[in-house]
Amino acid sequence: MQLKMLHVFVGHNRAVWNKALALTKGRLDRKIPIMWKHELEWNLTHIWKKSDEMGWLNDAPSQSLQQTLKQFDRALRDCFDKQQPNKRFPRFKKKGVKDSFVLPQGISVDGNRIKLPKLGWVKFRKSRDIEGKIKSATVSRNGKHWYVSILCELEVAEPIHPSSSAVGIDRGVSIMAACSDGKTYIGAKAYRKHEKRLAKAQRILARRVKFSNNWHKQKEKVQNIHSKISNMRRDALHKASTEISKNHAMIFMENLGVSRMSKSAKGNSEKHGVNVKAKSGLNKSILDAGWAMFATMLEYKQRWKGGMVEYVPAAYTSQRCSQCQYTSKDNRASQSKFECQACGYQANADFNASLNILAAGHAVLACGVDAIATTVKQEPVLAIC
Ligand SMILES: [Zn+2]
Repeated sequence: MQLKMLHVFVGHNRAVWNKALALTKGRLDRKIPIMWKHELEWNLTHIWKKSDEMGWLNDAPSQSLQQTLKQFDRALRDCFDKQQPNKRFPRFKKKGVKDSFVLPQGISVDGNRIKLPKLGWVKFRKSRDIEGKIKSATVSRNGKHWYVSILCELEVAEPIHPSSSAVGIDRGVSIMAACSDGKTYIGAKAYRKHEKRLAKAQRILARRVKFSNNWHKQKEKVQNIHSKISNMRRDALHKASTEISKNHAMIFMENLGVSRMSKSAKGNSEKHGVNVKAKSGLNKSILDAGWAMFATMLEYKQRWKGGMVEYVPAAYTSQRCSQCQYTSKDNRASQSKFECQACGYQANADFNASLNILAAGHAVLACGVDAIATTVKQEPVLAIC
C-alpha cells in the first residue's frame, strides 16, 4: 500500500512540474509574462486542485507539490541567469526517470522507522545517525528501491583558535612569505628549474608546424609542465598557509594594491638589470595569482580554526626600520638586505618588512583601519595611538 502511494506521490509531483512547464512554455510562445513561484502556487491551490481534471493532486502531501514548484522556479531562474554556467531550459519529467519528491516538514524518525506526511510510519534502513533538527526529506527511487535522504541542521560551536599569537607576513618575490616569527617560505625559486624546462619546451613548440602531429605532441608536453608547476605552487601555498594558520590566531598582511606592485617592479629593474626586467612581466602575473590564492587559503583556514586575517596599508613597510622607525629608500642596501641608515639595524629586508606589518597590524587593531590608513599616507612613520 505504502509502495503504491509512493508511486502516486512521485507521479503527482511530476504532473505538477510538467503542468508548470507547459504553462510557462505556452506563455513564452505567446510572448506574455510567465508566472513565478507565488502565482504558480496560487494556481495549484485554487485552480488545479479544484479542477476535475487535476483534482487528484489533493492525494499527495501538498508541501511536496509546493516544493516541486519551488524547484521549478529555481530551474527557470537559473536558466535565465547569465551568471550560471549551466543554462538549460527546464525539461518535461518522464515517468521513471529520476523519480523523486521533497518533503519539507512533518517528518520524524524513531529508530528504524520514519514518519512521512500522508504515508505514516515507514520502515527504513539507516545508513548513518541523524543529528540535529530535520529540515527536509527527499524521497527518490532507483530501480526497485526507494531511498530517503534527510537534510539536518546542526549547530556547531564557533571554533576557538588554539594559539593566541599574532604574525606579520610579507609576501615577496624570491621569498613567497617572510613571517615576523622568523620563518620563511620559499616561492618562485623552487620552480625555476621547471620554468627553464617550460621555456625550452615552448621554444620547441614555436618551431613546430602548427597542428601537425609533432606540434600536438609538443603542446601536450608544454601543458604537462604547466600543470606540474601549478601543482607544485599550490602544494607549497597549502603547506605554508596550513602551518602559519596552525601557529597564529591573528595574521596580518599587506593590502596589495597598485603601489606595492609598481614599487617592487621598480626595485627589481634598478638592482638586477635587464634580465629580471624581462622576466618580471611573467613573474609578476604568476605572483599576483599566487598571492591572491595564498590570501584566500589563509582566510578560510583561519575561519575553520577561529583565527583572523587582517590587512594593513602597504605604505613604506619595506623602507621603514622596524627598530627605530626611520624611513628611507637608502635603508635598502639591496633587494634582500635591509640596513638602517639611522640606527644601523641589519636584517633580511623581507623579515624587516614583516615586523613592520605586525606592528601596523597591532596598530590597526588598537585604533581601527581608517586611523592608520590616513596617518600612514600623510607621514611615513607608524601611527601613534
Ligand atoms: Zn633603525
